[in-house]
Amino acid sequence: MAEHESLEFGKADFVLLDNVSLEEFMANLKLRFEKGRIYTYIGEVVVSVNPYRAMNIYGRDTIEQYKGRELYERPPHLFAIADAAYKAMKRRNKDTCIVISGESGAGKTEASKYIMQYIAAITNPGQRAEVERVKNMLLKSNCVLEAFGNAKTNRNDNSSRFGKYMDINFDFKGDPIGGHINNYLLEKSRVIFQQEGERSFHSFYQMVKGGPESLLRSLHVSKDPTAFNYIKVGGHIKSSIDDGADFKAVADAMKVIGFTADELQTVYKVLATILHLGNLTFGVDGDTTLIENSKVVAVIGDLLATKEENVEKALLYRTVATGRDVIDKQHTAQEASYGRDALAKAMYERMFCWIVGRINDVIEVKNYDAKVHGKNTVIGVLDIYGFEIFQNNSFEQFCINYCNEKLQQLFIQLVLRQEQEEYQREGIPWKHIDFFNNQIIVDLVELQHKGIFSVLDEACMNVGKVTDKVFLQGLNSKYSVVGFIDKNKDTLFQDFKRLLYNSSNPVLKVMWPEGKLRITEVTKRPLTAATLFKNSMIALVENLACKEPYYVRCIKPNDVKSPLLFEHERCRHQVEYLGLLENVRVRRAGFANRQEYPRFLQRYKMISEFTWPNHDLPSEKEAVKKLLQGCGFEQDVAYGKTKVFIRTPRTLFCLEEQRTEM
Ligand code: ATP
Ligand code: MG
Repeated sequence: MAEHESLEFGKADFVLLDNVSLEEFMANLKLRFEKGRIYTYIGEVVVSVNPYRAMNIYGRDTIEQYKGRELYERPPHLFAIADAAYKAMKRRNKDTCIVISGESGAGKTEASKYIMQYIAAITNPGQRAEVERVKNMLLKSNCVLEAFGNAKTNRNDNSSRFGKYMDINFDFKGDPIGGHINNYLLEKSRVIFQQEGERSFHSFYQMVKGGPESLLRSLHVSKDPTAFNYIKVGGHIKSSIDDGADFKAVADAMKVIGFTADELQTVYKVLATILHLGNLTFGVDGDTTLIENSKVVAVIGDLLATKEENVEKALLYRTVATGRDVIDKQHTAQEASYGRDALAKAMYERMFCWIVGRINDVIEVKNYDAKVHGKNTVIGVLDIYGFEIFQNNSFEQFCINYCNEKLQQLFIQLVLRQEQEEYQREGIPWKHIDFFNNQIIVDLVELQHKGIFSVLDEACMNVGKVTDKVFLQGLNSKYSVVGFIDKNKDTLFQDFKRLLYNSSNPVLKVMWPEGKLRITEVTKRPLTAATLFKNSMIALVENLACKEPYYVRCIKPNDVKSPLLFEHERCRHQVEYLGLLENVRVRRAGFANRQEYPRFLQRYKMISEFTWPNHDLPSEKEAVKKLLQGCGFEQDVAYGKTKVFIRTPRTLFCLEEQRTEM
């Protein structure tokens, strides 16, 4: 008996449970986790439980076992799903996507990396140099994006603080020829503040701890992270992470990707500028607001390749246009601090987006021949920040959790609803299975005029009149709305944009094109952060919905990162809100595979004497019936109006075998 069929390890597919109940589901999940079987199927969905220990199941030999195999031939694994998506892409010319979901720390980012490694390992047998280059870039980009976009949180030592969707483009041979990364809303507030026990983005600690002496000296940065207000607020500088070693790995990866020495230097200068900004303090002397530690301003001027007095002016004054006059209005100390923080956050976010853009420059499909002539198909991999509830939940958690609701809605649409609707449409007898449809939650957030985002935007337009408090009255949610209005408006004084645009460092300059505008030219109200995020989520879901989806549902077994502990309640909760039981029910009552009659016949007609070389039956449907009866599969199929439905994958497998034996 194949290992994955042995009962010692539980059922490899939840569809095979004797009774579909929550108890049985949980018992199977637990048994498998304890036996080190971290993956289990629900049909083609992989359920994964974070093992919190190194598993010896991702090596070359394992990859070979999965390559080109069918899902049910091997024990459940991410590689099998990656292979299924790859086969669909290659054989059927389908664009596919792999959606990885689960809460913070459940293992999404690790899963996405294993999937990419698998795809890289099984492609390009011809060792074409350009394809090798692309693969190398795609893999290297992970390490760079994690350095700048991940941070230690109380949930996860390497938590993604941005959403990432990566397309990998393939040519007609099935080899990767390029890719594209979309990034979603970086949690930039982390640049200036972290909750107790958390850290800022890895990049800061990597530079401070791993940067060579000469670099740090030129940046006026000491080797002590506690010297910088912005990165010590969380009070947790030490962690399991080896920042020093990571610094080198990231710098090397950036060089391989093609970042120039000047670009790399600019990145370090931006990081250093942010660190110095955090140490700036403002005071008052009579009517005058002043900077208390003016030496720091000189350093910042140096790092930003601009004059010291320009930096000082941008920090202390705001240029405003009143009618035709342009005047310099002095900030209060409080306004100046607000401006300083906004500048630090904006500089980091801009740099992050610029890094993504530079990576995209080198990985985008260069081979135009393949674009024009051959087919160019895509596998998309989505790894987004997981659902999270903190002691204090703010605007970022609101956006992150909205994003997770949106993805759950897509899962419901694709896996639970469409499936049932198709049976009805095709006239297949079907008993409806209930599930919780979270559309109402999504609506509550995004509906025009009535949704929370709209209410928030409205509050932001009424400058002066509406405060966070008023917003809360209209909302009455359990989120702490402190800072919602500010974060949504996301104001960065125009003066800073001009300051950075006018830098004589060309790399910095390109990050700030809008600094070109003169004060009198700036009129348009920019879209709010919430609206931008909502629009990007809607676009993302539309993009995913038109691809053939594969799902990885990640579960976090405990809150203490233990490889031994399966906390029943924690896991049950996740199984429930992910809708996994409903998924099993729909899947079990349903059919693994369906094909339109003509297509089915085209593929399998040669295995039956009734259909090969010709058939004299009245319709293709009749021909398919005759064929399947002849093979003895009558019990395992149902005939819809336009399609034949096949219950178990094994039947399809047998058909495939007979076909290749012909
Ligand atoms: P977030 O939403 O916060 O980004 P995530 O779901 O992406 O969380 P990961 O960063 O992938 O979570 O995983 C958290 C940690 O769990 C990893 O750093 C690693 O220590 C461990 N882990 C996850 N998956 C695996 C695995 N397959 N094998 C071994 N360890 C794992
Ligand atoms: Mg992650």
